[in-house]
Amino acid sequence: MTKIIFVTGGVVSSVGKGVCVASIGRILKSRGVSVSLMKLDPYLNVDPGTMSPYQHGEVFVTGDGSETDLDLGHYERFVDVNLTGLSNITAGRIYSEVIARERRGEFLGGTIQAVPHVTDAIKKRISLLAERSGAEVVVVEVGGTVGDIEGLPFLEAIRQMRNEVGRDNAYYIHVTFLPYISATDELKTKPTQHSVRELRGIGILPDAIICRADHDVDDEIKNKISIYCDVPNDAVINLPTVSSIYEVPLILQEEGLGDQVARALRLDGGGSRDMAGWREMVSAIRAPKRTLPIAIVGKYVDLRDSYISVKEALLHAGLHYGLDVDVQWVNSERIEEEGPDRLLESASGVVVPGGFGARGVEGMIQTARYARDHDVPYLGLCLGLQVMVVEIGRSLMGLAAANSTEMNPNTPHPVIDLMNSQRGVTDMGGTMRLGVYPCETIPDSWARKAYGEAVVEERHRHRWEVNNRYRERMEAVNLWPTGLSPDGELIEIMEYAPAKFMVGTQFHPEFLSRPNRPHPLFREFIGVATDVVREGGQPPLPEIGLRE
Ligand code: GLN
Repeated sequence: MTKIIFVTGGVVSSVGKGVCVASIGRILKSRGVSVSLMKLDPYLNVDPGTMSPYQHGEVFVTGDGSETDLDLGHYERFVDVNLTGLSNITAGRIYSEVIARERRGEFLGGTIQAVPHVTDAIKKRISLLAERSGAEVVVVEVGGTVGDIEGLPFLEAIRQMRNEVGRDNAYYIHVTFLPYISATDELKTKPTQHSVRELRGIGILPDAIICRADHDVDDEIKNKISIYCDVPNDAVINLPTVSSIYEVPLILQEEGLGDQVARALRLDGGGSRDMAGWREMVSAIRAPKRTLPIAIVGKYVDLRDSYISVKEALLHAGLHYGLDVDVQWVNSERIEEEGPDRLLESASGVVVPGGFGARGVEGMIQTARYARDHDVPYLGLCLGLQVMVVEIGRSLMGLAAANSTEMNPNTPHPVIDLMNSQRGVTDMGGTMRLGVYPCETIPDSWARKAYGEAVVEERHRHRWEVNNRYRERMEAVNLWPTGLSPDGELIEIMEYAPAKFMVGTQFHPEFLSRPNRPHPLFREFIGVATDVVREGGQPPLPEIGLRE
């Protein structure tokens, strides 16, 4: 029987509930307990794939091609697991399943209701993950905050599950925020009390409360929360704001959460409690280091969460060399207005990440041009590959009007074109080329050097691709396909050979980076970018290896 940890949120959103869930997973894994994780999203989209990054932040793609919540990225990075679409469900998906069953007559004339039909469907999904993953513990995060109308069926479902899995096999954690009043120099517990009261009204009694706060939570405050919210004193967990999210597992562990959970759920994985490997990694993150400025040029930069996996992958790669990557966020539309020179002059490397639609793309094309002209290391991710190809088409292949048909359907030179498999597709949700596909790397390329392997698997999310009709003309100007689908038909990686490092990938390598195992392409990119700094007289950097 799987044991389940349910994590709810209270008071305000954006307090890092996802990072808490990922951290709990990490703590358990370090103890030798097998874990899987799941996010329940109460909104009505079937998945976040159709949502604007401004609404929702990054869409995280799992290996099986599911478009999921960005918290799954935290889960994968912290716990070092590969999840599937089973780990993320939305109210939209649940309702559409229930309604489809009703249309098929499967309810035999019954009246379909939130309870029990919707709640049953939610519980079934949780049980399905528990069963398929075979994990000893599943950590289930309920999105949103207690009090949200659309969250009610989810809370009701997780309440009911306590009896189904057995009271001893369920553990409830509530993550709240303690606001700080500067005039009186105190943290306030009232919003937490209210949110716990609301939760108890639904029938869920939290076993532990994680209190996020920008200031230290002293014993008096802990006592107060313990008394008013009816949790043991040592189950009030203090989580101050920290500079790196990777510190959170250590803090929760030091605050005793790992021991509490292990005791309550009778877990003994036989692993260590000191999290030595993770601790070593966090010390490396915290150690003062030289910084390396890297620009991310995209159109959704105003919301940092839009490119969260890209940012994390850069930090992981920097860490490999004992460097702090200082991400400079540059809006590609500003490049269109002001030109790239001043906005990019201090960057030792440039990343153009994924994106959709024409807005801001000319600024990305100018960015690729700038990188090539100044030989600044360039890493293009999906759309970043496509703009690199368009730029080289325009500047070197003599095709002044080269473009992607996504940006200009009537371009005379569609160097980037809609994939054949995408023609005629009208539904927007879940219809891109999604998930893991193999890619063969070509000898004597950055790709082969980075991976050290002939065949790699990477995650995709796109509809357009490099147009094979231009392949020879591209090679003639030294733009080489260095990664191809096994049938040779789809170009997955391109490199501009004369540059120090100008590599574009049709897939999203950022999804596979881990803090202790940077993605090979990010690692090489940062390695070359440090050389750019080194020309300024800095000593070469040692590579540091990290355990765990
Ligand atoms: N819009 C481009 C495509 O669909 C790029 C997608 C992406 O960057 N993820 O091919």
